[in-house]
Amino acid sequence: MEAGIVGLPNVGKSTLFNALTMSKAAQSANYPFCTIEPNEGVVSVPDDRLRRISQYIVPKKLVPAALKLVDIAGIVKGASEGQGLGNKFLTHIREVDAILQVVRCFDDPDVIHVSGSVNPVADIETIEIELMLADIQTLENSLSKAERTAKSGDKDAKQRVEVIKKCLAHLTTDQPLRKMEFDENETKLVSSYGLMTAKPILYVANVDENDLEGKGKLVQDVRDFAAKVGASVVPVCAKLESEIAELDEADRAEMLEGAGLAEPALSALAREAYKVLGLQSYFTAGEMEVRAWTIPIGATAPQAAGVIHTDFEKGFIRAEVYTLADLETYKSEKEIRSAGKLRVEGKGYVMQDGDICHFLFN
Ligand code: GDP
Repeated sequence: MEAGIVGLPNVGKSTLFNALTMSKAAQSANYPFCTIEPNEGVVSVPDDRLRRISQYIVPKKLVPAALKLVDIAGIVKGASEGQGLGNKFLTHIREVDAILQVVRCFDDPDVIHVSGSVNPVADIETIEIELMLADIQTLENSLSKAERTAKSGDKDAKQRVEVIKKCLAHLTTDQPLRKMEFDENETKLVSSYGLMTAKPILYVANVDENDLEGKGKLVQDVRDFAAKVGASVVPVCAKLESEIAELDEADRAEMLEGAGLAEPALSALAREAYKVLGLQSYFTAGEMEVRAWTIPIGATAPQAAGVIHTDFEKGFIRAEVYTLADLETYKSEKEIRSAGKLRVEGKGYVMQDGDICHFLFN
């Protein structure tokens, strides 16, 4: 699972990406067509449940879940027609599972805005239009191919023609595909085309240092817009976060306190991104490590085991499962077992967020 960071040039994408991945890589220049190759990084998803589990099962280390991020360089107006590095960027967006769009809500006369003024909703619309135009192109290209195959009586192709037409009709009303309803089969087809406006999106409002909670009008505009299109918004001050990310533990706590933040905004962002991607965590807990593993909501026990190792999925026998609440009540796995609260689950078990598991396998 990975999320791609997109946005117009100079909105703070690279600053945010560097802060998220704590890379101290050289900041990109203040220039519209920077960062040509996508940068990839991994960010951990903070989860207080790890600490709570480790109060009872004391491990050598805690391992949080991780999310892969790709910094996709600036889309510009006309990208779908090849402007800027247009199609190259779009190809990268097709490959990610969710989009994090950074929108500029900070005022800084030293940082040039590509369209001359700071207007985050207009920026969102600019990008959305490019993505919609690119999706239309993709669909139109696929349509003629599918129609040719459908003529020979191919059932699958006929179905594709229908889905493509349905999507095109929706896009031509200036609506992204995100809110369209598809059945299971259609969903599969839609995702096979990598349609960008069908991907879940999260708006990252890059706020001023004096508006960390995003109470200003610009962020409010973004929230109103997001509510209409069914997306969420996380306010982050990329500049401050990148400064925080470079500090060691002690200085970081002090700086956060000084800024009046309970945690880095990036933590909230990582969690929100995880949610947008439809992900949840389960845990394994032992003397070596207490660890969060990432699975899609709805994953079965064998699929969850497969995240640790593919052999675990193939040779899956059963899972022993308990919850953090059980652990907090009975204080140890041994006591959970004695109390008859250790559940034995088979192949069909659908994992619940926060399950603590042992897998038995061949
Ligand atoms: P990108 O083109 O979207 O990747 O933008 P960058 O991350 O390279 O940022 C463009 C410029 O905006 C840089 O000079 C950053 O230092 C500056 N910048 C980024 N985030 C903030 C912020 O939150 N506040 C202010 N004042 N400047 C920022």
